[in-house]
Amino acid sequence: MTLLITNVRVIGGGKNLPEVADVYVNGDKISAIGSFGDKKTDEVLSGEGAYLSPGFIDVNTDSDHYLSIFDHPGQEDFLRQGVTTIVGGNCGASLAPLLYGSLESIQKWTDVRNMNVGWHTLEEFFSLIEKRQLGVNFMTLIGHSTVRRAMLGEAMRDLTSNELVVFGETLRRALKEGAAGFSTGLGYVHSRQTPYAEIKFLAKIVHEYGAVYATHLRNTGEGLGDSIEETIKIANETGARVVVSHLLPLKGFEKEYEAALDRIESLPRDADFHFDLYPFDTSVIPLYAFLPLWVQNGGIEVMMSNVKDSWLQPRIVKELPKVDPHGFVIAWASGDLTLSGRSLREMMDIYGLRDPQETLMRLMVSTSLRASIFYKNINPALITRGLLSKRSFVSSNAASLSDARKEEKLERAVSTFPKFLSLVLKEKLMPLEDAIKKVTQEPARKFNLRDRGEIREGNYADLACFTDEGHVKFTVVNGRVAFKDGTVQTILAGRPLRHHGY
Ligand SMILES: [Zn+2]
Repeated sequence: MTLLITNVRVIGGGKNLPEVADVYVNGDKISAIGSFGDKKTDEVLSGEGAYLSPGFIDVNTDSDHYLSIFDHPGQEDFLRQGVTTIVGGNCGASLAPLLYGSLESIQKWTDVRNMNVGWHTLEEFFSLIEKRQLGVNFMTLIGHSTVRRAMLGEAMRDLTSNELVVFGETLRRALKEGAAGFSTGLGYVHSRQTPYAEIKFLAKIVHEYGAVYATHLRNTGEGLGDSIEETIKIANETGARVVVSHLLPLKGFEKEYEAALDRIESLPRDADFHFDLYPFDTSVIPLYAFLPLWVQNGGIEVMMSNVKDSWLQPRIVKELPKVDPHGFVIAWASGDLTLSGRSLREMMDIYGLRDPQETLMRLMVSTSLRASIFYKNINPALITRGLLSKRSFVSSNAASLSDARKEEKLERAVSTFPKFLSLVLKEKLMPLEDAIKKVTQEPARKFNLRDRGEIREGNYADLACFTDEGHVKFTVVNGRVAFKDGTVQTILAGRPLRHHGY
């Protein structure tokens, strides 16, 4: 297969390129950049008036957590945005390795009961993806909680020294098999008590393989400063290359956020330290996260028995946060799909209750805490500062879902990158060259993708073409046209990308 993209403004390429060029793709690689107007190729796409950049790399995605890489392999929402590579396994949860074939670490995102797990190791998982195919390239981190819970089940205790050795060997094997790194979800109930020494031990192994340590912090509101310090300490003491996951300005904690950015920006120039964020003001959080911390001890069953305890209930209700009933929308609730898309305000009417906290409590009981919430808890004004940081990446922190699950779709799942482009092109947030590096070359370097992330002869042809408005015209994955003229093509040209950075 050969492809010619004509008369396009190439951005994110090497130096000394003409302002407008033709890009010739042969097989899965960029073969030449120049002027080839009369060259015979299998397909020609006009880039007239538009930009051509490397395909975008989304460093924090949830398509594995929602299992949509299986039921929706096209991953269309990403292709429509010009994204050609996604990184999974964030927030402490990955689909491999599965020591005993159980998926409990991802059940806060989706119902795992109908999933047939036919793999254990990362290599087996990668082979399966290769066989079933995907629309985008896929890298994965190894989830701390995935391995830990396989070893400990619901128990929440420190690992014994033997268990830690087994954990280390498990991680080492996965890194050898091409994991891009390791992630923790320290804000989640099963990981909150993880000792510093355990993370340090594992992050040292990550460093041996030149891989990335990504962390969903213990605290993102109060205590954000301490969480950032803990992460910087891990980086300094282990040498691991860090990404702080979805670092966003929570309402009420703006000062803490600005201090965190100041701290990160004051790191020495050569520190390999980044964070990711999305340009929207809504998060998705598990319903149980609204419980006061003293109730969030033990697994979901223990929490549930506390919530149902008629002696504890009034005390819990009193300590539930004062949520804005309009800014709280059910994304997904186990056992009752009709609840998806309903706000807490609507639930007040449905239950006939007047008090938002009482309603929240009723919802917790009726869903047995198995639900997740779209929650408007981010200060939009401060997001810009995060995007402008030299140490930020842009991520959707979302899954591409099939239309059957459209109630669960977030704005950021379908428009993170066009929104970022439009902030850059229309509102002049930063120079376009810098913006494109932030979503292509810089994440490619972070994850050791040596032959992607730049438009260069010999690199893989992962490409995104977009207009002055930030509207994506077409997307090319490994040399194949995956999206054009508003339509996703029925090809699955993505590949699992095995990390071999060491
Ligand atoms: Zn997270």
